[in-house]
Amino acid sequence: MSPRFPAATIRTHVPVPMRYADGFTTTARVFTFDGLVDGRQHLAFGLGDRAGAFPTDRDGRQPPLVRPHSECLTGDVFGSERCDCGPQMREAVERITHAGGYLLYLRQEGRGIGLYAKLDAYALQDTGLDTYEANRALGFGEDERDYTVAAQMLHALGLTHVALLSNNPDKAAQLGQLGVTVTEQVPTGVHLSAANARYLATKARRGVHTLDLPVPLPLAPWGPGGARR
Ligand SMILES: [Zn+2]
Repeated sequence: MSPRFPAATIRTHVPVPMRYADGFTTTARVFTFDGLVDGRQHLAFGLGDRAGAFPTDRDGRQPPLVRPHSECLTGDVFGSERCDCGPQMREAVERITHAGGYLLYLRQEGRGIGLYAKLDAYALQDTGLDTYEANRALGFGEDERDYTVAAQMLHALGLTHVALLSNNPDKAAQLGQLGVTVTEQVPTGVHLSAANARYLATKARRGVHTLDLPVPLPLAPWGPGGARR
């Protein structure tokens, strides 16, 4: 079946050794691409047995474990507890290293609305709106993420079948519509803190994420106006 999007091609790949603050180390093969439909600089991190120079699944190996991870500057880089992106990415890198596969780093900050708008949405959330209502109040869709570039990267890597590391059924559905066969959906752990409890509960309720959250949830420490109690 021919893909339902323009073909992208691998532009370069280079090994990058990585060390995390907790001491975990791995080496990724970082791929760049030509022809991604939105023109942004998305990356694929090949990990474990996919960190070699010539990865392919055309030899009948197990489908690789793949996590499409949407960029979150505050969570991924600065340790924000407003969300669970940083711990999720850290978990994904280790699990993919063990299983063999790819982390697709997608440059769609704030569910696709951009960094400044995401911070504006945080301010609205401190007045009582949930994460989806806040995006709508700013004139955006509840979730503007599009996984076409993820499908393009997988196609360029020669992958037609993947095990998807995600709690988000929308990722599996979109990839399926784009011609990627999701053989299995592997849930990630729950990274709960007092600050992100309301966010995770909203994701579970509104986004139909498969999250097992404890009841009662810890109290969020964010008061009106964003002041910490
Ligand atoms: Zn985040």
